[in-house]
Amino acid sequence: MYNKGILLDRDGVLIENREDYVKNISEIKILPGVKDAIMDLWSKNYTICIVTNQSGVSKGLYREQDVRDVHEFIEQQFKKEMSGPIFWYYCPHQDKDNCDCRKPKPGLLQRAIREHNFCEENTWMVGDNIRDIEAGRALDCKTCLVLTGLGKSFHHPQMSLVPQKVCCDLHEFVQQILTEEEESL
Ligand SMILES: [Mg+2]
Ligand SMILES: [Zn+2]
Repeated sequence: MYNKGILLDRDGVLIENREDYVKNISEIKILPGVKDAIMDLWSKNYTICIVTNQSGVSKGLYREQDVRDVHEFIEQQFKKEMSGPIFWYYCPHQDKDNCDCRKPKPGLLQRAIREHNFCEENTWMVGDNIRDIEAGRALDCKTCLVLTGLGKSFHHPQMSLVPQKVCCDLHEFVQQILTEEEESL
């Protein structure tokens, strides 16, 4: 039996994207509706995995410890009223490092799927960037582009890679999949 899981990008999906990177906890701004969306997923027994590119580490803008602090802080905000499974995966590299974890490569997603026993074809990857959609597609995951963060500036009908869903934000996406899940029962 597989576990019910979901893969989420971080910047531009959970928290506000910053052109100069989210470098420490003082720069975290959780987007509207995100906390409710996370709690809704937990209440339907989803395991949440965050998969995020953090090339600022490789560029020397912040340390891996700062990334972990940011993740711990966000998780604490989510867990104020309710607790559930959430796991964090980040790639500290930049394109020139040629690693296999930086999205659009699927390495991070693959690790999350394997470690938590998700079924690739039934798992959604949600992101605000074409890189997220590419990484999800490489593994046959279902993909959703959200129009928060960088997603705001995509002309998605013209994208070469079309995601299964385009939603205003994470909250709208979660409402949709939970409704669809209910209807299929
Ligand atoms: Mg993003
Ligand atoms: Zn990497």
